[in-house]
Amino acid sequence: MTQTKSLIDENGKRTDGRTETELREIKINVGVIKNADGSAFIEFGMNKILAAVYGPREVHPKHMAQPDRCVLRCRYHMTPFSTDTRKNPAPSRREVEISKVMREALEPALMLQDYPRAAIDVYVEVLQADGGSRCAGITAASVALADAGINMRDIVAACAAGKINGKIVTDINDTEDKEGEADMPVAYMPHLDQVTLLQLDGILDDKQFSECLDEAVRGCKVVYEIQRKALMQKYFGEETEMKEEQ
Ligand code: ADP
Repeated sequence: MTQTKSLIDENGKRTDGRTETELREIKINVGVIKNADGSAFIEFGMNKILAAVYGPREVHPKHMAQPDRCVLRCRYHMTPFSTDTRKNPAPSRREVEISKVMREALEPALMLQDYPRAAIDVYVEVLQADGGSRCAGITAASVALADAGINMRDIVAACAAGKINGKIVTDINDTEDKEGEADMPVAYMPHLDQVTLLQLDGILDDKQFSECLDEAVRGCKVVYEIQRKALMQKYFGEETEMKEEQ
């Protein structure tokens, strides 16, 4: 997170040719895994991520069951071939942390009290990672939960903003994440206007913090439109333009 080289050129373009406020291209396919109750495949720039939802179903071990609500369990996992160097397939501290924040980001959107004594399992499998995989994973998981027919208050859309070359930019990629100055992943429920995840890696002053949060929320709204269109396409067969509309 310490800036060593220029990540924005003289034409204002970033390392992957985007402008400061441009998101990477996002594509979402719904219902891609037959065995799951709900599923989604997301391509968020070069991130390729599968999300599968199982449940509501019986809880094992039984003592984990809650009498008044459903238990949400999330697992975020990166495949060994998802990164440049082989990743150890065993769960890392990072994956345990992301699984936890993913559950906390999704839980407020779910009407868990509608399924007492049951469990919903969400599996997020990263096939290719390119920075921002937790945001892409939360976005896909939320679509998969809707596809599973789980009662929801809202969809959760996620997008990061960050600081590179002293400027606030939207949706930072792997290079910007590693060589930039700050990374702020945000998850947001657009109808309820509530943030369900806010993390910050790096240092921002008060003004930059507000600017970065506003930009991440704007990115979430763009992501939400793509989630909505992907679900509409599956259930109503509507022709959708899967490109970002900013
Ligand atoms: P996020 O993917 O949500 O941005 P991080 O900021 O922790 O989460 O990771 C940024 C990027 O670093 C990942 O998207 C991935 O491209 C890369 N990365 C993460 N873990 C590893 C790893 N164990 N080996 C190689 N690259 C990794």
